[in-house]
Amino acid sequence: MKRLDKIYEGKAKILYRTDDDGLLIQYFKDDATAFNAKKKGTIADKGAINCAVSSVIFQFLEAQGVKSHFVKQLSEREMLVKRVEIIPVEVVVRNYIAGSLAKRTGRPEGEKLPETLVEWYYKSDPLGDPMVTKDHLRIFGWASDEEVAAVERIARRVNELLAPYFEKRGILLVDYKLEFGRHASGLLLADEITPDGCRLWDLKTREKMDKDRFRFDLGKVEENYREVYRRVCA
Ligand code: UDP
Repeated sequence: MKRLDKIYEGKAKILYRTDDDGLLIQYFKDDATAFNAKKKGTIADKGAINCAVSSVIFQFLEAQGVKSHFVKQLSEREMLVKRVEIIPVEVVVRNYIAGSLAKRTGRPEGEKLPETLVEWYYKSDPLGDPMVTKDHLRIFGWASDEEVAAVERIARRVNELLAPYFEKRGILLVDYKLEFGRHASGLLLADEITPDGCRLWDLKTREKMDKDRFRFDLGKVEENYREVYRRVCA
C-alpha cells in the first residue's frame, strides 16, 4: 500500500491518500492538545500506543459484529482505513460522572450513572464542539434521524462490549467519544478509540490512566498510556 499526499492534518492524526481511492492511511502523532487546543504538548510514544490500542479495539469490535473503518495496522503508527465521510457529530457515551458532566450537573466525579448516557456534540473547532440535541442534528442537516438512530444503537452496543472488555483488563470505562462515517457499505465507526478520547481509570485505585493526566498536569502521563497499552495489547 503506497502512502501518497497528505489530505488532512488534525491535532493528533494525519490522513494520507493511498493508491487505492477507497482507502486512506491514518497516521498517529505524539502531539497532544486539550481545552480546544489552548494547551499543547507531546506525549512520548503516544502515536504508537494509540495506533496499537485502537487497532486491537477495532478488531475486537469487528469480531463482535460492529463495523468500523479499520482495515489493518500497517506499521507502528500507521493504520489503513476505509475512506468515509465523517458525520460532524461527536457522540459521547458515559457510564460514570466526570469532566464536563460533573461541571454541568454539580455532581462529583466518579458517581456511577443509573443508566448509560449518550450525548451529542456538534463537531466544530471554531465553536468549541457545543453540545446539541438530536433535533439540532436534523434541523441543521448534520445527520438524518435515521443516521442518528443507527449511530445511537451502535454506540450503545459498543458500550455493552467495551465496558466489560476494559473491566477484564482492570480498567473502568468512565466515558468516551465516538465518531462515525458514511460509507457505501453503511455507517461505520471511525476515528480512534484510545486514552486520548476515553476516560480510563484503574479499576481498583481509580487512578486516571488517560488524557486527563495531560490536561491537568497530573504527571506520569507516558507511564499511564504505556500501562493501558500493556493491559489492552499484551
Ligand atoms: N472527548 C474527546 N474529544 C472532545 C471532547 C471530549 O475525545 O473533543 C472525550 C473525553 O476524552 C472524555 C469524553 O469525551 O472521555 C467526555 O468528555 P467531556 O464532555 O467530559 O469533556 P472534557 O471534560 O473532556 O472537556
